[in-house]
Amino acid sequence: MDRITCAHAHPYAARPDGLFACACGEQLAAADVEPDTGQVWTVDTSGALVVVTDPNSALESLQDAVQDLREATEYPNRAAVRHQAAQALREALEALREAAAYGITP
Ligand SMILES: [Zn+2]
Repeated sequence: MDRITCAHAHPYAARPDGLFACACGEQLAAADVEPDTGQVWTVDTSGALVVVTDPNSALESLQDAVQDLREATEYPNRAAVRHQAAQALREALEALREAAAYGITP
């Protein structure tokens, strides 16, 4: 989870009118929030605008990692392939868990 901030590193807070505003008064409309590819935006429990990994992207990473684990024996460096795939699996599962904690599911 990363907070979306203004140029002065202030987090944007949700307001009742549907806009987000930072401490120096910059405003951001929901339609103008543009998360990077593979991320989605949401609001944390304090009302701050944050981005988390898109669970659909995490699922694709998870599927790729499972395939790498299954095919690891085809590589000369199978231990390294397994290690990287296991790490990718852990990261994908953590991303899914984090997104689910915000109520975002694939
Ligand atoms: Zn600011």
